[in-house]
Amino acid sequence: MSDTIFGKIISGEIPAPKIFEDEHCIVINDISPQAPVHVLVIPKRPIKMLTDAESSDQSLLGHLLLVARQQAKELGIAEGCRFIVNNGEAGGQTVFHLHIHVLGGQTLTEQGL
Ligand code: 5GP
Repeated sequence: MSDTIFGKIISGEIPAPKIFEDEHCIVINDISPQAPVHVLVIPKRPIKMLTDAESSDQSLLGHLLLVARQQAKELGIAEGCRFIVNNGEAGGQTVFHLHIHVLGGQTLTEQGL
């Protein structure tokens, strides 16, 4: 597991309420929400960032998007929301364990996170 905060949450070393979990990923609320709804879909496999994913991650990456879609539906924001993957330091990534931001609950006009 990665030694990032997300790796520690996945391993249970740091307790955090999970709003969804399956064998491949967890979903948690962002600690510093940028919108009324702001959750993170995080694979259990410790991929550092999207550009580090491999061809063999095809089904995992698809799964993460489907979970993000399902969360948007269940959280009532599917009609208008934003899915974001920051990649690398210059891309705004601060936690180096791949994650998809799912944001909504208001009109999102800014460029991103
Ligand atoms: P990034 O900038 O890497 O795309 O996004 C990292 C996100 O993780 C940020 O939105 C930040 O608020 C969130 N975050 C950082 N530390 C924690 C934490 O300990 N718990 C939770 N739930 N979110 C965190």
